[in-house]
Amino acid sequence: MITFENVTKKYADGNTAVDSLSFDIHKGEFFVLIGPSGCGKTTTLKMINRLIPLTDGTIFIDGKKISEYNIHELRWNIGYVLQQIALFPHMTIEENIAIVPELKKWDDATIKDRVTELLDMVGLDPDTYRNRKPSELSGGEQQRVGVVRALAADPDIILMDEPFSALDPISREKLQDDIIALQQNIKKTIVFVTHDMQEALKLADRICLMKDGKKVQLGTPTELMEKPANEFVREFVGNTNKPAVPINLADIMQPLTETDPVPTVTLSNSSLSHEILEQLSAHEVVGITEDEQLIGIVNRQMVIRYFSEHLQERGAING
Ligand code: ADP
Ligand code: MG
Repeated sequence: MITFENVTKKYADGNTAVDSLSFDIHKGEFFVLIGPSGCGKTTTLKMINRLIPLTDGTIFIDGKKISEYNIHELRWNIGYVLQQIALFPHMTIEENIAIVPELKKWDDATIKDRVTELLDMVGLDPDTYRNRKPSELSGGEQQRVGVVRALAADPDIILMDEPFSALDPISREKLQDDIIALQQNIKKTIVFVTHDMQEALKLADRICLMKDGKKVQLGTPTELMEKPANEFVREFVGNTNKPAVPINLADIMQPLTETDPVPTVTLSNSSLSHEILEQLSAHEVVGITEDEQLIGIVNRQMVIRYFSEHLQERGAING
């Protein structure tokens, strides 16, 4: 769908921002560009819709060089969401969303229906929101409008440059969930820039990790985690790939109660075992024995509470 062939961008000051980059982005794919600040992500993204001209190499969309497309046709068929909320302040939400459909000369009724549909899609009541000004919306709501504005004219490709990074963690999380749900329905080709590996792992079909304008590794989230190409990848994927730490049973176990718990599991070491969890899936309470003495109980509630707190800390479950 989108092909980069040895794409290079040198800025006028001689800085090589993107250095002979090659990859294929598949149709309907959620493709994430990630890397440290200054590694060339924004430059890469903006070359796709010709906001930045290439110095060398070629970008193809559907087999045709981007330089051969009519610039309006190209831009109108590529949605673009920026990091900073970029709604026009004097225009209503409806007018903001309608910009590209207006340019494409859709008729008024079609545009109005489309705005209704899009606001509904991201949980903003159309009657409440369509005539408001951006300043009357929260940051999260404005960015949601920014996202649907990019979808308005039904483009095949959507480019998103750190669209959620300015938001508070709760809005960010919500919008990430929204975009996953949205993508399952609309199946667009999305090129999404972030510097946040958690976000990349959550959203991406494939991730391209960049450094100094070059591709370091391209693969699925699992591939990057399980087979990092080098130390840089390993570090960037970072704490999401720490070796699993055993769960200390002492953090979960409670003192014995009057009644003898059934069943019991014999302690083999000091950590939570698969056997204990197996028993808990069938029983409310499990007794723990050591040297044939009952030393405590583990109940479902405690285990679930522990998992809830600790897995959230580790980013394994949503906040
Ligand atoms: P990222 O989005 O990954 O942070 P950018 O694509 O914005 O990186 O920038 C890549 C490199 O190109 C950086 O070193 C940046 O300073 C440089 N750069 C970006 N825009 C320009 C410009 N207009 N002129 C000169 N250098 C630029
Ligand atoms: Mg950038």
